[in-house]
Amino acid sequence: MPFATLGLNRDLLYALDKQFYTQPYPIQEKAIPPILKGNDLLGIAQTGSGKTASYVLPTLQLLQSKPVAKNRHINTLVLVPTRELAIQVQKVYKAFSDRLEQGIKSLAVYGGVSINPQMIEMQGVEILVATPGRLLELVEKNAVYLTNVEVLVLDEADKMLNLGFKEEMAKIFKLLPAKRQNLLFSATLSEDLNAIQALVLKQPIVIKIEAETENLDLITQLAYAVEDEKKGPLLRYLITTLEMKQVLVFTSSVHKADTVTDKLNTNRIKAIAMHSKKSQGARESALSKFKNGEVQVLVATDLMSRGIDIPFLPFVVNYELPRSPKDYIHRIGRTGRAENAGTAISLVNEEEKHHFGVIQKKMKKQVELILSEHIDLKGY
Ligand code: AMP
Repeated sequence: MPFATLGLNRDLLYALDKQFYTQPYPIQEKAIPPILKGNDLLGIAQTGSGKTASYVLPTLQLLQSKPVAKNRHINTLVLVPTRELAIQVQKVYKAFSDRLEQGIKSLAVYGGVSINPQMIEMQGVEILVATPGRLLELVEKNAVYLTNVEVLVLDEADKMLNLGFKEEMAKIFKLLPAKRQNLLFSATLSEDLNAIQALVLKQPIVIKIEAETENLDLITQLAYAVEDEKKGPLLRYLITTLEMKQVLVFTSSVHKADTVTDKLNTNRIKAIAMHSKKSQGARESALSKFKNGEVQVLVATDLMSRGIDIPFLPFVVNYELPRSPKDYIHRIGRTGRAENAGTAISLVNEEEKHHFGVIQKKMKKQVELILSEHIDLKGY
C-alpha cells in the first residue's frame, strides 16, 4: 500500500519521496488514517518500527490547516523520556516541515542544558517536543502556554514512567485543555501505563506492532562462552577479525563502559563511551562521531540505547548481558533494522550462562554458545 492511499496531502507525499520513504511501515499504515480523522490512538510499538513518522506526518498535516496561534501558545505537544529522543523526534518534524510551503516551527526542549536559549527559541513554536521536567520549568517561566494544545503525543510512555516522570506528567495533564486529541506510544503495557491510558485516552484506536521480534529474523545472533577477564581481548579479536567498521558495544554499568572504552583506545581501536554520566554535549558529539565514522566503536549503557538511531548498524556486541530479556531484544534490535541484516554477539561468562538461557526462552530463539578457549587471543 503506497503512502498516497493513507490520506496524506501532496506536500507531505513529496517530502516522503525526498526522504526515500517509499512504502509505509505497518504502524504508519495503521496509525496515519485514524490520526488524520482526529481519533485518539494507543500504539504498542518500539523504536525502529517507524512510529515517529506515524504521528509526525498526520500531526503536521492537521496543523497545516490551522491558523497560526498566539505566540508561545503551542498546538502540538510531544512528551518524551530523554533528550536524545527529543532531539531525534524534532529532527523528523523538521525534515518534513521544511518541505511545506507554510513554515511550521518545531522545537526540542530538555533538561541538563541552560534554559535561557530554549526560552528565546520558543518564539513562534507550534510543535514542542519536550521532556516533562523541562516543560514544567518553561511553563513556570511563562515561556510556553499549554492552553491551546490540540494534540498531545506521549512517546515511549513506558520509559517515562520507568524514569519516574509520573508526577510531572500528571501536572502537565492538568494544564492541558480537556478537549484535545491524544496519541500514546509505548513498547509495553503495564499497570501504571493502563492508569495513564485510562486518564488520557478517549475511545482510542489500538495498534500493536511486534516489530522487534519480526526483526530478529534479520539478525544473526552469536554467543561466546568466555571468562570475564578474557572478554576484553575477545572483543578486540572479534572487532579485528570480523573487520567491524562500526560496532555498538553494550555494558551494564557506566564504569564498565569507561574501562572497556579506555582499553580499546589503548589497543588502537577508536572508541568512545556514551552514558548517563556524560554531559549532553559529550553524548551528542559521541553519537555524531560514531555516525560519521570518526570512531569505530560506541560503548553504551542501556539507558542510552533508545536514542541511538542508526539505520544501518552492522554489529552489536553485548559485553555483558542485560538484566531483562526485553532489554536484550532491544539492544540487538539496534542492528537488523529497516530490512538490513546485522550481527549481534554476546560475550557470556560462567555466571551469565543461566540468564542467557532465560533470554533465549523469552525470545523463543536458540543461540549456540561458541567455546572461546581455543581462540588465540595473544596480542589482543
Ligand atoms: P522510528 O521507529 O520512528 O525510530 O524509525 C526507525 C527508522 O526507520 C528511522 O531511521 C526512520 O527514518 C526509518 N523509517 C521510518 N519509516 C520509514 C519508511 N516508511 N521507509 C523507510 N524508512 C523509514
